[in-house]
Formats: sequence, C-alpha cells, structure tokens
Amino acid sequence: MAGCSKCGSNVLIHHARIIDHGAHNWEQDLSVKVYTAPFGLLFRGGVSGPLEATVCGACGFTELYVLNPRELVKAVEESEKVRREQPPREPGPWYWRCSNCHRMNAPSSKSCMDCSTSRPDSGS
Ligand SMILES: [Zn+2]
Ligand SMILES: [Zn+2]
Repeated sequence: MAGCSKCGSNVLIHHARIIDHGAHNWEQDLSVKVYTAPFGLLFRGGVSGPLEATVCGACGFTELYVLNPRELVKAVEESEKVRREQPPREPGPWYWRCSNCHRMNAPSSKSCMDCSTSRPDSGS
C-alpha cells in the first residue's frame, strides 16, 4: 500500500478505531448510517457502517474507511427500491409531491430533494 497521501510517509497506523462518546458516555465506534425506510415514515430502518481510520505517523493526516461498504450499498439500493414500490403517504397538505420522481418534499424546499425538479408553484 502507498504511504501517506499528504506527506508520503510510510509510518502509517492502520485500523485505528474512532471512538464516539454517546449518551451516558458510552464509547462506541463512530459510524455512518444509511436509512432504508423512505422519507416520511416514523420508523426508519438503517444500516450502520463503523468507521476505521488510517493515521499518518508523521503528519497526522487521517483517512477514514467504512468497514462494511458493501452493506451500505445494499442498504441504499434497498431504500431506493422501497421508495419506488411504496411512495410515502402524504405527511400533510403543506408538503408537495415532485411531478418527476413523486418524492414528497418539505414545504420549505423550492426544488425536489432527489431530482432537483422545481416546485410546480414556485413561480419560476
Ligand atoms: Zn503524512
Ligand atoms: Zn423529484
């Protein structure tokens, strides 16, 4: 493997865990999370990806790696599928539905959060 991408040093500390102090001071691995349930549902399933770091022993530059990238990709694909098959019910009349991808968008957004189609009544 190549050395540090910043300074080129070969003194690298691999597999360092990044500790997050959560509620009650529990130590847990800092992680990313992909939600699998569509927007608007109360219960959102999700897949966590614990992060692991490679730290340069010379300059301190730290690169982050997710331990289970494939699981996260699967979760994203799953959530896309769920969203397509079961469009979320209207959370309220003030939300608006994208005419292009049928996503429900918050009243404050002027364009679709998924495909950037402009809001029909935004006047543009
Ligand atoms: Zn370095
Ligand atoms: Zn859209």
